[in-house]
Amino acid sequence: MTRAALNLTDQLDAMRADLGELYRDLHAHPELAFAEHRTSAEIVRRATALGYEVTADVGRTGVVARLANGPGPTVLLRADMDALPVREQTGLPYASTATDPETGGPVMHACGHDMHVTCLLGALRVLAGARQSWSGTIVAVFQPAEENGRGAEAMIADGLFTRFGKPDVVLAQHVGPFPYGMVALHPGPALAATDALRITLHGKGGHGSRPETAVDPVVMAAATVLRLQTIVSREISGTDTAVVTVGAVHAGTAHNIIPDRAELQLNIRTFTPTVRTRVLAAVDRIVRAESAASAAPRDPDIAPIDTFPVLVNDESAVDRTATALRAALGHDKVVDPGPLTGSEDCGLLATESQSPLCYWFFGGVDPQHFLNALSAGTVEQDIPSNHSPHFAPEPEPTIDTGVRAMVTAALEWLD
Ligand code: ZN
Ligand code: ZN
Repeated sequence: MTRAALNLTDQLDAMRADLGELYRDLHAHPELAFAEHRTSAEIVRRATALGYEVTADVGRTGVVARLANGPGPTVLLRADMDALPVREQTGLPYASTATDPETGGPVMHACGHDMHVTCLLGALRVLAGARQSWSGTIVAVFQPAEENGRGAEAMIADGLFTRFGKPDVVLAQHVGPFPYGMVALHPGPALAATDALRITLHGKGGHGSRPETAVDPVVMAAATVLRLQTIVSREISGTDTAVVTVGAVHAGTAHNIIPDRAELQLNIRTFTPTVRTRVLAAVDRIVRAESAASAAPRDPDIAPIDTFPVLVNDESAVDRTATALRAALGHDKVVDPGPLTGSEDCGLLATESQSPLCYWFFGGVDPQHFLNALSAGTVEQDIPSNHSPHFAPEPEPTIDTGVRAMVTAALEWLD
C-alpha cells in the first residue's frame, strides 16, 4: 500500500500529458446515450494495451475491462461515458462542435462523463502497473447511457454479473461544481430517485374566437402546472425533501386555434419510498381532477419517460473508503455534502449484485474562483453546474484527483 501510494505521485506526473490529451479528445467528441461508439473503441484500445481482458458491446455500447490477479475480492470500478444534447458555450479550445448523427442536434459532455472515463483509464493504468502490491479481481465497467437511466440496466441484462462475476463492492465517482482536490461523499440515501412523466391532457379543438365550442387544453395545462406546485408546499412534510418540476409544456400551433391537446413533462425527485408514493399519487390525482374540472372529453394519459432509483451509499463502505481517501488526499479534502437531488443509475449495479456501494463526487473548479463566488454569495450564478452549456472542469488537477481517488479506493478494497 505505502509503496503504491508513494509512487502514485510519480505515476501521475508521467501520465498527466497523455491523460490530458485523452480528456480533451473525449471532450471534443461527445456521444449521446447508447451511441458511445468512438468512446468505447478508445477504451477498448487503451485497456487492452494495459493488459486487461476487455469485452465490448456489453449492454449495447458498454465495455468491461477485467484484471484477475490472484485470490481476493472482486472490485467493480464504474465510469459512465455518455454526453448530453446541449450546445457547448464554454469557449474552450477543445469545445465540442459535434452533432448527433441521428437528430443533427448539438452534443456536449456537459456532465463530465469524459472526465470519469479519463480518470478510470488512468486508474487502470496505475493498478495494472502495481499488480504485485494487490490481489483480487478488478472489473472496470464503462457504462453507456447514464443520462437516460438505461445504461446500467442494459449492462446487467446483458449478463454483467454472470459473465464477469459479482462484485464485493461497487466504487464510482462523479465530477462536480466544487473546488478541485476535494472529494464529497454522503452515507445512506445520497442521490434522489427520479420519476420523469409525460402527461397528455385532452381537450377539444376549435376556433380561437369560439371557446364555447371547444375544451381548451392550454388553460387545463396552466391550471395543472400551478396546482402541481402545491404538492411539495402543501402535501409533503417540511422535514422531507421532494422536487416537482414541469420542464416542458407543449400545446398549440397558432394564436387563433384552440388545440386539442397539451403535453407536460414532469421531473420528480424524492429520497424515500413513502414520499415518492405520496408525490406520484398526488400528481395522478391533480392531473385527473384538473382534466375533469375542465370537462375534458377524455381522461389524461400519464406515462413514464424514465425512472432512476434512489442511490444509497452503504454506510460502512463509505466509512472505510472515506478513511482511505482522507489519508491519501488530506483530512480537510474529504467532506460530506449531505443528500443531493441529482440522480444516478449507478445504484442498480450495487442493488442488483447485492453488494455495497460507495459513490463520491470530486471537484473540478479552481478553488480561488470558488472561494470568490462563495464570499460574494454567487456560487449558483458564477459556478456552472453539471448540464450547463458552460460546465468546464479544469482538466489537470481534476484528473489527478480523480485518478488518485479511484486508485486509493480500489486498493483499499483489494487485498
Ligand atoms: Zn448528468
Ligand atoms: Zn453525470
